[in-house]
This record gives sequence, C-alpha cells and structure tokens, in this order.
Amino acid sequence: MNCRRCGKELNMDDVGLSRKMIHRATIQCFCVECLADHFELPAKILYEQIERYRAAGCSLFPPAPSSRLSMQRRKSPESPNPELK
Ligand SMILES: [Zn+2]
Repeated sequence: MNCRRCGKELNMDDVGLSRKMIHRATIQCFCVECLADHFELPAKILYEQIERYRAAGCSLFPPAPSSRLSMQRRKSPESPNPELK
C-alpha cells in the first residue's frame, strides 16, 4: 500500500495511524508526514501517538523490534546503580 498523497510505501505504523485518525476501515492511507501535514500537527506528535498506541497493545500497531529500546531502560536488578536516579 502507498500513501495516497505522496506515493511513499507505507509500513504498518502509517496504515495503523491512518486508520486511527481517519477511519478504522479507511482504504485511503497516508504516510505519517502527510497525516501530520493534513491535520496540521508536527510529525513528532504522531510518532509519539504511534508509540502510545503500541504500548497500549493496540492491534493496529504490532510491536516492532526497533522500538524495544524503552523496554531495556527498565531498572534491572542485575546492575544496581544507586547514583542513577
Ligand atoms: Zn505521504
């Protein structure tokens, strides 16, 4: 599937966000940049929205291996670091 506006190839996040922001069953999907432009929002906000939906377990946003960084930031008991608050 490609962005209806700029023709960029869409990933699951783009499609999921289009469905969230336009219509659950929309067949007109846009890339994050075009969605941001259309809704006059910074793309950064939309990427944050995607991460929020993903964290909430939304089925439209399957967990991506590249977004596991936040998981590793959890305090791990193996490496106690009292100075780091
Ligand atoms: Zn686009």
